[in-house]
Amino acid sequence: MKVGALIKRNKLLILVALAYLAIFIMSPNKAIMSVENSVYYLIEMFQVLPVIFLLTVVIEALVPKDLIIRGFGEESGLKGNFFALLFGSLSAGPIYAAFPISKTLLGKGASVSNIVIILSAWAVIKVPMLANEAKFLGANFMAVRWVLTVIAIFIMAYLTGLFVKKEDMRSAESGQETRELEINEGYCIGCGLCVKLLPEYYEMKEQKAVVKKMPEGKKAKQAVRESAERCPAKAIIFDMEEKAS
Ligand code: SF4
Repeated sequence: MKVGALIKRNKLLILVALAYLAIFIMSPNKAIMSVENSVYYLIEMFQVLPVIFLLTVVIEALVPKDLIIRGFGEESGLKGNFFALLFGSLSAGPIYAAFPISKTLLGKGASVSNIVIILSAWAVIKVPMLANEAKFLGANFMAVRWVLTVIAIFIMAYLTGLFVKKEDMRSAESGQETRELEINEGYCIGCGLCVKLLPEYYEMKEQKAVVKKMPEGKKAKQAVRESAERCPAKAIIFDMEEKAS
């Protein structure tokens, strides 16, 4: 790999190394303290992250997409909000562990609002945290803070769901325009059902389905939506809503 490309890929790491170097030159004692802190967090991350990645793999491979959609999806309503609150509250581990799990849930159909609830509950109202809070600051303080925090979390979730769309998140991640109709290659099991149903819109390439043509018109979109519902792996992502131009 070329040196330029290597620097570009690791620019954040290089910046951190330069910052450490500058602190070492200006104040060696503080530099030693910051190295010790960094090592502490690195060890914590190495202990936590393997478990988290294992959990994301389990969700990805074993939890049916339908279940996530019913539990945390757009249509799950208050029940979904409650599950999300429970999931975040009963979680363990630091907040950065919540991000890969949230991404997996989002990819499997969880709504943006419920992801906000999971992340917020994980960060500020986890059960072990509440127990400690009650011990040090009193049960009254903990209970009032919990009620007000939950109200704030629900407001944040509603507003975030209103302003941030999944499509924006997917396009920000890939750096590309999100298409109305997509196939999640990781989920597709290559059964060919979609191609059999709608050969004008899907085709097989290297044992995976790919989009051949975007549907136009209500009838075509309805047919594509039905094919997405019939896909056994729920690999077809189809957004029927008209996008504002
Ligand atoms: S129906 Fe679903 S799993 Fe089967 S080939 Fe099409 S996209 Fe893949």
